[in-house]
Amino acid sequence: MSQIAAALGETDTLRRARQAVQKADAWVKQWTVKQLDGELEIEGIKEEIDSSEKRLYGGSVRNPKELGDLQAKVFSLRRLLEQKEDQLLEIMMTLEEAEAAQESAHLCLQQAKADWQRAQSTLQAEKSELENQLAAAERGRQALLDHISPDDLAIYRSLRKAKGGVAVAVMLNKACTACGMEVPQGRISRGLEAGFLTCGNCERILVPDQEKSHALPS
Ligand SMILES: [Zn+2]
Repeated sequence: MSQIAAALGETDTLRRARQAVQKADAWVKQWTVKQLDGELEIEGIKEEIDSSEKRLYGGSVRNPKELGDLQAKVFSLRRLLEQKEDQLLEIMMTLEEAEAAQESAHLCLQQAKADWQRAQSTLQAEKSELENQLAAAERGRQALLDHISPDDLAIYRSLRKAKGGVAVAVMLNKACTACGMEVPQGRISRGLEAGFLTCGNCERILVPDQEKSHALPS
């Protein structure tokens, strides 16, 4: 149950997929802004060319020096416009790449989420199955406890503490299976008669093999 508790919650795969989406989104945003900036800049240059050409061909400017300057300005603006349009084209291509990467990152995240949800529901099912088993074991333990005298239980508990968690051993072929020591026949007879047999060596409670119980209270 503690393993399941540790496995429940966000996995590394899901975290990485989420991070990839964030990165891809940021990339798209960055290049979208660049594209908008580029478009605005191009628009500004076009307007400037427009107004310069109006002055150049409008007839209001007659001074040849001024006309020559205007012509040179329009020429250099057109060259700048060409450069900016080339740059914008590159930006648009990068943006397309970014959008493709964004789409695949989102798909990966979707897949990771679906996988994660499936795994989580399996884990949840395992968890409730274990909880049921635990509750059943708890009920079985309680049912056994009800039939054991408080004195016997106190001995059992202190033995369990003193003997590394194992208070009861099976006696097989007249020997304690916990420490291996043979149990004398006299001790066996007295113990069985009293309904309480212990090992003379390790002091554990002995249960003859045929009476071996698999559900012992703690
Ligand atoms: Zn023993």
